[in-house]
Amino acid sequence: METVSIARSQIDAIVAHARAGAPDEVCGVVAVREGEVVRVMPTRNAAATPRNRFEIDSRDLMRVVEVEREGHDVGFYHSHPVSVAYPSATDIGFAELWPGALQLMVSLRQDVPGGTGPEFHAYRIVPPQVNVVPLVIDESR
Ligand SMILES: [Zn+2]
Repeated sequence: METVSIARSQIDAIVAHARAGAPDEVCGVVAVREGEVVRVMPTRNAAATPRNRFEIDSRDLMRVVEVEREGHDVGFYHSHPVSVAYPSATDIGFAELWPGALQLMVSLRQDVPGGTGPEFHAYRIVPPQVNVVPLVIDESR
């Protein structure tokens, strides 16, 4: 089964972005090279209802072009401030534009006192199918 490797510091950066943006969803672009997340780039959320939607701001779409120019695979991340870290119907719709791209998702629903902390998962969505991608976390970087 395919796995994707990601650095602990990259997860921390995404969680920090999600916390800073809550209660709105936050989003970003990631670069993936041979099954490894090599870069994480926060973007602005331009959705009209950012509480439960995300839309990468057109001013930040340059990030996608950069990743492609580097010859890396384009992936995305976004947060769910209150719901589970599983793709919503809207997320599956977004994936129509990027079928099979790595989609990292963080949920903050348990990121509360007495909770179990942020939940972090990865998927590759080929609508309507959602495939879970196991993450291998590199604690050393
Ligand atoms: Zn979502």
